[in-house]
Amino acid sequence: MDFVLPPEIEDYRIRIRRFVEEWLIPLEADRANYDEHENIAPHVLAEMRRQAKAEGLWALQMPKSVGGQGLPRIGMAACYEEMNRSIFGPVVFNSAAPDDGNMMILDRVLPDAMKEEWLLPIVRGEAQSAFAMTEPDGCGSDPNLTYTRAERMGNDRWRITGRKWFITGAGNARIFIIIARTSDDERKGLSAFLFKSDTPGWRIVRRIPIMGPEEHGGHCELEFNGLEIPDGQRLLNIGDGLKVTQMRLGVARLTHCMRWTGLARRCLEIAMERIKQRDSFGMKLIDRESVQGLIGQAAMEIEIGRMLTMRAAWALDQGSFARKEVSMAKIVVADALQKSVDTALQLLGARGYSKDTVIEWIYRYARQARLVDGASEVHRMVLANLLRAEGDGFFRWGEAGRG
Ligand SMILES: Cc1cc2nc3c(=O)[nH]c(=O)nc-3n(C[C@H](O)[C@H](O)[C@H](O)COP(=O)(O)OP(=O)(O)OC[C@H]3O[C@@H](n4cnc5c(N)ncnc54)[C@H](O)[C@@H]3O)c2cc1C
Repeated sequence: MDFVLPPEIEDYRIRIRRFVEEWLIPLEADRANYDEHENIAPHVLAEMRRQAKAEGLWALQMPKSVGGQGLPRIGMAACYEEMNRSIFGPVVFNSAAPDDGNMMILDRVLPDAMKEEWLLPIVRGEAQSAFAMTEPDGCGSDPNLTYTRAERMGNDRWRITGRKWFITGAGNARIFIIIARTSDDERKGLSAFLFKSDTPGWRIVRRIPIMGPEEHGGHCELEFNGLEIPDGQRLLNIGDGLKVTQMRLGVARLTHCMRWTGLARRCLEIAMERIKQRDSFGMKLIDRESVQGLIGQAAMEIEIGRMLTMRAAWALDQGSFARKEVSMAKIVVADALQKSVDTALQLLGARGYSKDTVIEWIYRYARQARLVDGASEVHRMVLANLLRAEGDGFFRWGEAGRG
């Protein structure tokens, strides 16, 4: 066993790091590079994406056959972390949620003949996508509460009625995946469908104002009032909605952890730079034991989360569902991100509370980490259930293919 990255992955990691250092971090300081929702401005994004493509750093998670770089999950873990040292990073390399998770699931479940229409525009960066599952007072932590329905009309069409909310990117997305109820069966009651934004029968009720900066297209509430979807746009079989969701979220949750680790590291970088030169009562802040305690603890928590993330990535590469590993990583990295940004803000003093650094941006963004893609409490419940089912086997060392 060793913890050394394979040379090909190390090469990608170094190139991403250089790109972020040279091009993206400098953009953060100028408000002109932001849109009105505090994300990278579209014209700046277009130029950076062009450059990332030219340098062969585009869509690391996608197979080479569809225009990506074909990195395994462990390679993604190393590189996504580097990308998100900049708040602008992931979207520049086409590795931001929700397109990232949507591309990976569509690549797995779509027949090849449908990929040109539904997958490749997202891979090329020509279309944004959204994943619509959560509902106001319905599906949230518990997917069995889903009330949005897909009713069959004859053999070849479905009619969707209901409501979704917090759908990231929906304001800009052209390609949607929607989860809807097709029967009352507890395990096989949900199905997954694709539709395009220009299909009649649905509307965006509002872009929900949120605490943090927003992804392009925001987080929207949607109403479905007779949207018709051809049966050919169903993903997998009728009743496989939960399966599609689990397949998508398993990896997508982990890619959040990969990115958040980079953000957390950036917070400590900013804090370290400051405490190395800031004086207080006759010494540098970094020489104070109480400050060392704060920074050392945060660094350790990042490393714990990072190890769990890499182990989960390895397990996914072995063909496991890695449910236990992903849940643990998700809980720990979400906490490590909040701990790191809070520590950095504290050590920067008033400057940390200003918009002179990206710390306040990350602080507001970070709070969602304990909610999205499964609240931490729900992941702890999953772990408890696995421990109950597996007993001592819960602590086994990795075995290829077991999940
Ligand atoms: C920024 C952001 C982006 C999002 N993007 C998307 C998206 O693109 N598509 C999409 O479909 N959804 C999206 N969501 C929704 C997100 O996935 C849900 O918020 C999440 O699944 C929790 O569901 P809920 O909000 O309904 O909380 P609820 O299910 O109402 O839970 C509320 C709280 O109750 C507690 N709780 C719930 N169940 C349990 C339990 N079993 N044990 C212990 N405690 C529990 C937890 O503390 C939880 O936070 C997004 C949310 C946010 C904040």
